Amino acid sequence: MAVSLTLPTIQNWSCHNCGGCCRQHAIEITAEERQRILSQAWTEQDGTPTGNALFEWHAGPPWAKRYRLAHRDDGACVFLNEQGLCRIHAKFGESAKPLACRVYPYAFHPAGKKVTVSLRFSCPSVVANRGRTMSQNSDDIRQIARAVVPDGFEKMPPPQISVRERVDWPDTLRFVDAIDATLATPCIPISLKLQRTLFWLNLVDQARFEKLSGTRLREFLDLIRQAADDELPDVIHQPDADAKPSAIAGVQFRLLAAQYARKDTAAGRSSGWRGRWNLFRAATRFARGSGNVPALQTSFREVPFETLEQPFGFPSECEELWTRYFRVKVQGLHFCGAAYYDIPLVEGFQSLSLIFPATLWIARWLAASRDRKTLTPEDVAQALSIADHHHGYSPLFGTIGFRQRVRTLSQLGEIPKLINWYTRTATD
Ligand code: SF4
Repeated sequence: MAVSLTLPTIQNWSCHNCGGCCRQHAIEITAEERQRILSQAWTEQDGTPTGNALFEWHAGPPWAKRYRLAHRDDGACVFLNEQGLCRIHAKFGESAKPLACRVYPYAFHPAGKKVTVSLRFSCPSVVANRGRTMSQNSDDIRQIARAVVPDGFEKMPPPQISVRERVDWPDTLRFVDAIDATLATPCIPISLKLQRTLFWLNLVDQARFEKLSGTRLREFLDLIRQAADDELPDVIHQPDADAKPSAIAGVQFRLLAAQYARKDTAAGRSSGWRGRWNLFRAATRFARGSGNVPALQTSFREVPFETLEQPFGFPSECEELWTRYFRVKVQGLHFCGAAYYDIPLVEGFQSLSLIFPATLWIARWLAASRDRKTLTPEDVAQALSIADHHHGYSPLFGTIGFRQRVRTLSQLGEIPKLINWYTRTATD
């Protein structure tokens, strides 16, 4: 099936064989893929387990088991070799791999008559913008799209705009273009771009659109975007520029940041009653926010919660990364609707914007774990790779509890405060 694609042309990517995805992701395979891998007849000489030991039964009853590729004790996929390469790819070619491995780090989302493409920033090469342009990758992307985009995707409904409002696809894409235009504003920091977008989306959340469509809708969006620019001309004159987030926001935010920071893979997940008890104890400590932060991954050390509230600054080199991150997610519709737990566009952007302070909080944790008091671009890049691993994929982020957390922070007007608080420097 020929699929018309919208590519994220501001992003470059090629795989650099770091093996990160082969350690971080649990790869679910179909019955057909399992048979194909069994027929490849892997032996111990290949450096892999053999037969059924290549797979893990992770869901489904005994008569309809669902399998994943097995992981070694060190967390790596059983097919990852010492050079960081996939053994299936090396021996039988790219097309012999499970589809989930071939798709990564791309994500495909229906957008009316087209399909829009996003990328996952859990891949360090995506974060670093390393590799070929999307035009150079376009033949590969088209081939993958043919395998993953379902027939009849054009009939999929657009995401709701707010809890009460839904418009047709062309108008939905006008909202998306308007968000992208605010994020593309030159010469202002990403913190201000996010706050302006949140400001005018708040007006969208209260508006009705049954009589506003096409050109009139675009004019309305231009008008409220201009109101946001006038209301928030720069970072210094924002009403919440120096305000510390409230105690309630602090609790909600730490729990949210902990969910972004945790390791949630087949290899890293705690299981059974002991695992659940450990998670409960860790959640209690995050809610309390005193003492030491429980180390959720090997990258972190236990450091005092209080340390992470100090001003660590914001590396200006990261402005480009953050603008690119948000624009790729927005252009790729990777924040609402079918790609994001069926959440309306306004709420989806509020949720997406919270990944910014959450990532900076995680970056502070990485820096403090290495006895530093300022952030480096490397801290921010690693933290984004950790946080985006979950975005739109961990079932936790679509739960009522997580959504309520985002709504509470939004209704209390705390998201802009959190954005300011975690970008401040020692002189603020
Ligand atoms: S994480 Fe990215 S660069 Fe590393 S192996 Fe996977 S796709 Fe390649």
